[in-house]
Amino acid sequence: MFSVDWGDPSCAAGNDNLHDSCTPSGKHAHLLCRQRVGKVATIRSLLIRKPPVRITDFSLSRLPRVEFGSGAIAKLPAIAHAYGTKALLVTGAGSLKNSPAWPAVISGLDAQNMSWLHLSIPGEPSPQRVDEAVRALRAESIDVVIGIGGGSALDAAKAIAGLLKPGNSVMDHLEGVGPELPYTGPATPFIAVPTTAGTGSEATKNAVLSVQGTEGFKKSFRDEKLVAEVALVDPDLLATCPSAVIAANGMDAFTQLLESYVSSRAAPLTDSLAWGGMKAARDGLLALYADADDAAARERMAYAALVSGITLAQVGLGSVHGLAAPLGAFFPIPHGVACGTLVATATRINIETLRVREPAHPALEKYAQVGRLLSHQGQLDQKASHAALIDTLDAWTRQLGLPTLAHYGVTPADIPRIVANSRGSSMKTNPIRLDDSEIAAILAARI
Ligand SMILES: [Zn+2]
Repeated sequence: MFSVDWGDPSCAAGNDNLHDSCTPSGKHAHLLCRQRVGKVATIRSLLIRKPPVRITDFSLSRLPRVEFGSGAIAKLPAIAHAYGTKALLVTGAGSLKNSPAWPAVISGLDAQNMSWLHLSIPGEPSPQRVDEAVRALRAESIDVVIGIGGGSALDAAKAIAGLLKPGNSVMDHLEGVGPELPYTGPATPFIAVPTTAGTGSEATKNAVLSVQGTEGFKKSFRDEKLVAEVALVDPDLLATCPSAVIAANGMDAFTQLLESYVSSRAAPLTDSLAWGGMKAARDGLLALYADADDAAARERMAYAALVSGITLAQVGLGSVHGLAAPLGAFFPIPHGVACGTLVATATRINIETLRVREPAHPALEKYAQVGRLLSHQGQLDQKASHAALIDTLDAWTRQLGLPTLAHYGVTPADIPRIVANSRGSSMKTNPIRLDDSEIAAILAARI
């Protein structure tokens, strides 16, 4: 269609079939939209003269080179060969080996005269598993690490790539536990190939590692040097993704986009990306859940997940991810399920708290913009838009069959301990500082 940088959210939300490129950060009348929509929008635009958009200060940290598209996996061998002749393939528990992608990757590497080793990481990676892999593989002179799988496989590959050359324990660098030594590298080049649409790990600078149990934790090894050299995103790889994984990971991607969009560090550049990602998720998530063969839905969700990784790495997240960390550490709750089951309630509590304590906060209008976007009702006022947003997220939670926290053994007695461990980096960029009782209310509503 056409490309516009600063759009009017009322145009984008209300008439999005005409305005695929509109973004919501605009503060001035949207000329191209006006031409397209015609008389009604023309009158509206003339009546609503908005001040010019203010470009707030921002930093754009390193991003991977991105190769996105159906069939992009065929490029992997040649891309890998650019980094050397010996690859380490890191995958999840094994489903990839049964997919058509695996023999194509292997024969492609062979055709490039590359040798390769394979490491399978079942479940979410622990620091111990990463250290064992580094110890076992250090002497192998690996030129490039290729992570193929969901967020866990990519995070494991990212952490291993970071430590293969330095050789020290990942515990030296994990945030919030241990000495938190600065990471100086060098990292081994890392190529990220996601096979789920969720965490956006292919675009982020952190690897999440966890130890599960009563003394458990879920913490990040984070550094810009860990960012993948290449994010190779082939939506076709989602074809074998089970529907429950599509549901949880898709909600995680949407949550990451929404939390970035209203983050206290949000910036126009990431707002534009997050808006497009949320629109893609709106149109792709339920469709992909219903039919993994829907190629357009696969593309939309692969895109939403990639963009969510870019935005979260730049501007941070919010209360849902603040809670997902201790929930995942203390209970066997997959990250996407934790986010998906909490996002509607956490959004409601953020909105209610902002209304009471900071009614002029810009996040309130941003939540309203997203409500109009998701509901296709651009004419709604702010209050009705908030209701539409929460209603839509509640409906997605039900339709996608996301379990409650009790399903994983969480009881009301666990709430204080979860709250006490929820104030990591994500909670710090929530649009408003929630007190302990407000955070507890999010959990209580989803047990
Ligand atoms: Zn997430």
